[in-house]
Amino acid sequence: MKTELLEKYADFIVRVGVNVQPGQTLLVSCPLEAAPLARLCVRSAYAAGARDVRVDWYDGLTARARLELGDEAALSEVKPYLERSYLDYAESEGGACVLHILADDPELYAGLDAGKINRVRVARNQKLKTWRDYTLNDKIAWCIAAMPCPAWAKKVFPELPEASAVEALWNAIFEVCRVTHGDPVAEWETHIARLNALRDKMNAYHFSSLHFSSANGTDLNIGLADGAHWESAASFDDRGTLFVPNIPTEEVFTAPHKDHVDGVVYGTKPYAYNSQLIEDFHVTFQNGRVTEYGAGKNEALLGELLASDEGACHIGEVALVPASSPINRSGILFYDTLFDENAACHIAFGASYPGTCKGGKAMNEEELKKHGMNQSVIHEDIMIGAADTTVTGLTEKGETVTVFSGGEWAF
Ligand code: ZN
Ligand code: ZN
Repeated sequence: MKTELLEKYADFIVRVGVNVQPGQTLLVSCPLEAAPLARLCVRSAYAAGARDVRVDWYDGLTARARLELGDEAALSEVKPYLERSYLDYAESEGGACVLHILADDPELYAGLDAGKINRVRVARNQKLKTWRDYTLNDKIAWCIAAMPCPAWAKKVFPELPEASAVEALWNAIFEVCRVTHGDPVAEWETHIARLNALRDKMNAYHFSSLHFSSANGTDLNIGLADGAHWESAASFDDRGTLFVPNIPTEEVFTAPHKDHVDGVVYGTKPYAYNSQLIEDFHVTFQNGRVTEYGAGKNEALLGELLASDEGACHIGEVALVPASSPINRSGILFYDTLFDENAACHIAFGASYPGTCKGGKAMNEEELKKHGMNQSVIHEDIMIGAADTTVTGLTEKGETVTVFSGGEWAF
């Protein structure tokens, strides 16, 4: 992997992804294996004027050992200082922004008690709600980006020796993140402008529902939340700073109405949940709620996901991604949602983004619920788009419009 590309990638993540502003503190979470990328991001952040950069390191195998051997009650505990340590920065005068670097083995927790892992995760998310709302509501800029680790690379390229697999995954990440050729900042400006134009078209139609169908059996009607607003790649934080939460990103998305989803949907890519893979799955909805589900692999884990809390068996996001997206065209299955969700249309179990409802960022939980905006401590994207997916939209005036045909944007 070329150092020059890695530097370009790090600088792009800091300047375009999280868009660090002068005087801000950048809070980074990063696995030990991704230290080379984190170090470069720290440098770029200071060059962009960051007041301070704090890196929280973690180690996947340590996390596995704790989940395997630790007491569930102890693992579920969150000491108050931990949340304060984030809030203190976010509430400070210069404010904070957040970067999550991923380098995860998609099956890091394979074989462990899926129920225990999920309960621990849900309990921790509930206790960190105030802090999590900062990013869910885009109060502060945040960004997720990834770097290969050997276990992940071998899962993606099992036929290659480890070093070649890592190299191949690097090349794939650079390519789909538009870092390989020329100036990524300029390429992303063009890319974001194209996604924004599609977002504006979707908003102009004022759809009240969408219908997804595909030869795999998918036949799903998704009513949209009251005042649903389509969003794309870039978001604004409370201070008006533009940032790109996911690198890469190809989606245009909005909020379904939590009680108006009906039909059956088939997953089109394996889904890594809590570092275990759910494969060949389908889900049936009635009045927004999952009434039946099944999976070829890890069906019980899918059940745990859906039982996480009241909102986990409703959906909070529907996103459109064409089959021709660079990630899908690469033909690579990343076994990582950050990439795979940008290769196919997807829906998300759990929380909706308040920004996908007109005026939603200023609403409280009750008001959001009244608009049909789903609430949950989880937000899990599952891929449902296929090469033959058709999506039609029903407008408020009762007109039917083809939005996707043959897996592609129809306009
Ligand atoms: Zn999405
Ligand atoms: Zn999502």
